[in-house]
Amino acid sequence: MRVLDTSAILRSDLDFSDGEYIITYGVLSELLEDGVKDLIDLAIGKNHIKVHVPGEQYKKTVSSKAYETGDLNTLSETDLEVLASCLENNAVLASDDYAMQNVAAALGIAFEGLTHKGISRQVTWERVCAGCGRKFEDSFKGVCPTCGHKTRRKASYSERID
Ligand SMILES: [Zn+2]
Repeated sequence: MRVLDTSAILRSDLDFSDGEYIITYGVLSELLEDGVKDLIDLAIGKNHIKVHVPGEQYKKTVSSKAYETGDLNTLSETDLEVLASCLENNAVLASDDYAMQNVAAALGIAFEGLTHKGISRQVTWERVCAGCGRKFEDSFKGVCPTCGHKTRRKASYSERID
């Protein structure tokens, strides 16, 4: 079993038929771009990917370990849930994020980066208002100045570059 974070999905060849994969709802919500979202929905429908909600006790274990390693402030709620899913399912973390790999190592979770496969898509992050759709830099904090709704993180990606 492998738990995929968003960048792992976008850097994969998007063929999940060979194994058992897990993602979280947080990761699913970051895949707003239609092409990838459709492929993931299909893979979920075929049971190649399971969507998992990690238990609270696993999230607590991950958060306190991330605090110990000094990575807590770097990690998003989604990152923590991905790690908690690894812990709960005794699964391998698939992520290129150093902070996540660091916490995984501290928790005894096996991990693998994706870069050995070569990057097949360039991933960039931005924030999008959940209300009006206005776009912001990834570093933007706070609510949308136009309509007052929360902003959410969103991945966009280039066409395959291999
Ligand atoms: Zn707005």
